[in-house]
Amino acid sequence: MLRDALEMAATSFVLCHNHPDGDPKPTDEDVFLTNAVQHAAHLIGVPLDDHVIVTPPPGASPLCSGAETGPVRPPHLRDANPRR
Ligand SMILES: [Zn+2]
Repeated sequence: MLRDALEMAATSFVLCHNHPDGDPKPTDEDVFLTNAVQHAAHLIGVPLDDHVIVTPPPGASPLCSGAETGPVRPPHLRDANPRR
């Protein structure tokens, strides 16, 4: 991610990841990673502005699978003899 920031000539950047379980509280691993990235980012002069955790709204599915809802038909689910 720092290489990407440098290649894009970013002046700062934001991390973002999701917690599909709906709990936006950072895990110990999230805090460790954030601190490590923030330190490295400071050393290369491209500061980390924020680390955002997103969650699905209550009751919503975190994913929408095209294979399950219709627009995508995986090969193993295609009808071998479709009606014409
Ligand atoms: Zn996390």
